[in-house]
Amino acid sequence: MTTPMELLEDLPAADFYGYESLLPDDERKILLKARTLMRDEVKPLVNDNWAKGEFPKELITLFRDSGLAGLPYEGYGEHKAAVSNLLSGMLAMEMTRTDASVSTFFGVHNGLAMYSVHSGGDQEQRDRWLPAMAAMDRIGAFAMTEPLGGSDVAGGMRTTAEREGDTWVLNGAKKWIGNATFADYVVVWARDVDDNHVKGFVVEKDTPGFDPVKIQNKLAFRIVENAEITLTDVRVPEANRLQNINSFRDVAEILRATRAGVAWQALGVMAGAYELALDYARERRQFGRPIGGFQLVQDLLVKSLGNITASWGMLVQLARLQDAGIFRDEHSSLAKAFVTSRMREVVAWSREIFGGNGILLDHDIARFFADAEAIYSFEGTREMNTLIVGKSITGESAFV
Ligand SMILES: Cc1cc2nc3c(=O)[nH]c(=O)nc-3n(C[C@H](O)[C@H](O)[C@H](O)COP(=O)(O)OP(=O)(O)OC[C@H]3O[C@@H](n4cnc5c(N)ncnc54)[C@H](O)[C@@H]3O)c2cc1C
Repeated sequence: MTTPMELLEDLPAADFYGYESLLPDDERKILLKARTLMRDEVKPLVNDNWAKGEFPKELITLFRDSGLAGLPYEGYGEHKAAVSNLLSGMLAMEMTRTDASVSTFFGVHNGLAMYSVHSGGDQEQRDRWLPAMAAMDRIGAFAMTEPLGGSDVAGGMRTTAEREGDTWVLNGAKKWIGNATFADYVVVWARDVDDNHVKGFVVEKDTPGFDPVKIQNKLAFRIVENAEITLTDVRVPEANRLQNINSFRDVAEILRATRAGVAWQALGVMAGAYELALDYARERRQFGRPIGGFQLVQDLLVKSLGNITASWGMLVQLARLQDAGIFRDEHSSLAKAFVTSRMREVVAWSREIFGGNGILLDHDIARFFADAEAIYSFEGTREMNTLIVGKSITGESAFV
């Protein structure tokens, strides 16, 4: 057990209040394993691949060997008992503290795809797909967004599913789908032409008519392979339709959890950017002294640390609400909207501290700055999450 004296020792600089000490020892060990993996094995791969815009496939092996997948799902993964939402959040934070793309590759697989199967599938489906996904022998993706349907995809989904006996025929298009170029299982959401409800289908790699094409020229998240997918008469057995998904309401439950994960990612971006800026402020000298000795630079650092510490406290309580099973859409929406907004401030201030070096990939901070923009917009933009909270607190829907 950690003593009060030890509480604030050996912590990352961004963890000013020692939030990490809220984890029980067995969960903290898992967090430290992720920290070592990211620092020693993942970090050296990041900038080269970001520059090339390529996903290094050895990441799959590294994460497979780490045993970090499947932890939130009881009975699957190395840990067997499900870990707390606090640890899941801190793991997302920890990975993003090194790199947002890598954390998103993992989050799409371990969060969006596995959670869809876990909560949307029946027991037979969980047992069919989750063991190999937890072992990372099979990789997942989650295909919701469409070229013409982003924020309004719930009501405006154009991809259709038509039942023919024991087979479903899917037609349409998806956009931005992370991991989809190589994923073994892609959870595709489509509107049933019969009852008009959104349903989920696990489409297996190489199914005829399923055509993912990598999106080129992204200026953020360059390591993640995002795909535009065309679905032309893709035939999927009824056994691959997620049996517990009956409407978009069931999908919203998945997004509620994964959106909280994105807020933790935003915290990780802030932590990584702040720590880079702090190190740089200590080393870089101008006017004969470290720039960290100037009041205006300290102001940027302290404002950043305030954003981090406040956001972290908010997310700790969010995780408690999740653990207690009293977590609502508006809880995760407020966190996503608030923490990603604070993140945008922190990456800008941190980049500013680097001066001209702040736009060089070699100094890492430019990567954080660029990646923050994708985190700000995906899994519900700030506007969409604001409307969800606004509706909850006023009782009035401002969605049009
Ligand atoms: C890097 C990256 C990875 C992604 N990965 C995935 C993935 O794996 N799977 C997946 O399904 N999707 C994925 N997405 C898609 C992502 O969730 C969408 O980009 C996001 O939901 C926003 O949709 P959009 O980009 O179409 O923006 P739009 O919906 O076109 O919105 C454009 C702007 O208009 C605003 N706006 C729209 N409607 C309103 C309104 N009523 N009131 C006020 N403002 C409004 C928005 O807030 C936004 O600022 C990813 C996106 C990115 C960038």
